[in-house]
This record gives sequence, structure tokens and C-alpha cells, in this order.
Amino acid sequence: MNKMRSPFGVKTRCTGGYPQYNSPPAPKTNSDGEHHGEDRVPTDKSKEQNWYLFSPVEGTVIRSNKNDDYGNCVVLAADNGFWVLLAHLQTREVKLGQRVLIGQRVGIAGNTGYSKGRHLHVEVVDMRGYPAKWCGHKEHLKHLLKPSEYIDFDKFEAEKEDFNVVIWKNGSTPEPVYQTTADCKNKKNPIGSLDPREQCECYGKVDGCYLVVYTINGTKTKKTGFVGYAGGVK
Ligand SMILES: [Zn+2]
Repeated sequence: MNKMRSPFGVKTRCTGGYPQYNSPPAPKTNSDGEHHGEDRVPTDKSKEQNWYLFSPVEGTVIRSNKNDDYGNCVVLAADNGFWVLLAHLQTREVKLGQRVLIGQRVGIAGNTGYSKGRHLHVEVVDMRGYPAKWCGHKEHLKHLLKPSEYIDFDKFEAEKEDFNVVIWKNGSTPEPVYQTTADCKNKKNPIGSLDPREQCECYGKVDGCYLVVYTINGTKTKKTGFVGYAGGVK
């Protein structure tokens, strides 16, 4: 089985191992004296973005709630039967029953619940052959695995940067808008036009054309299409 990707988008280090903490000072372990997961923090803790969490699996959210121990906690049940539990989150960004894809953002690591400093607590559980349904803590503890044997914490992909929407401003002549980049390049079959000096939002350059979202005159309705006027991007 291929190891799962890291739940982080940056390089991390282990601050508490499974089943015992391996780096002092040892925080409290559970009543059976064992630590059920692995604790990780970004190697560079300075940027807020370093704490974003991403799903290591494709599957379903079977738990997204808060309690005294785990704090904000999310459990992702992979379609292959393995579960990944992420605890002490600052924020949860997925809901119970929601489908998630690998790399989808699920929350931000934090310091909620029984936690003495900001970190992520990760548990990996082998629930193959069992229904993908949160069945209580006791049940899943019987199937715990060593997280670093199933998750490659060096395998990560940073979140794709949000695209910066820029303003596109027309020149002194009407600008035709096209549905496809092919039509735009051939100047054929315009689907609308932008007025002289009109401004709209530009979402990027695609195949040499500019993808714009503009308002249909006199309405609040938005329309999208491609324009060829490069000078419009401010
Ligand atoms: Zn922990």
C-alpha cells in the first residue's frame, strides 16, 4: 500500500510519538499510558499558512466535532477502510458526511482540547471490514496503527495559491467577448461585449486570452467569457 500524503502542506517534525512520547517534556498520556497517535508541528512554525491541514485520503468525514480531549476533531474515513483522525484543530472546515478528496483543505491546526501547545495529533486506524461510521473512541482504539508507517509526512503539496483577481479595464472601443479561446483568437461568434472604459474582473490568462467576469448592462447578472485585449489588465 502506498503511504498517504501528509495532512500538512509544509515540512513538519514529530513532537510526540506513537505509542509513547519520544521527546520530553511528555504531556499526559491516556489512561492506559499510551499515546494513540503522533504529534506534529511545522518545522517552520512562524507562518499561519503552515498550519493549514489537508485530507490525506479520498473518503468521507465521519466525525467533525469538539470535545475536552481532542478539541476540534475531524475523522476522515478513506474509501479503502483506513481512518485518519486529526485533533486539537483551531478550525474545522468540513462537515459530517461530507466527501473529501486527497489534498482538500479540512481545517487549521490549533491548540484546542487537552493540548499544551499548538500541534496536530494524528491517529491512523485500520477499520477495513467495518462500516465507515464513527463508533466511539473505545472501538477504534483496538485498531490503531503507527501513523508514520502509513503517512509519509515528507509527501505534501502546498495549497494552491488563491488566484489574485485583477481588474480588467477596457480601452476606448467596444471589446467583444467570446465563449471559447478559439473563438477569441479567431474573433468569431462573440457572445457579448464590454463598453469603452468598462471595468470587470479578470481571473487569469488562458491560452493567450483573458478570462473575465462582467456585469450585463442594467442588471446584477454576471457573465463570463474571454477577451483578447491585453491592455485591459491593470
Ligand atoms: Zn498527541
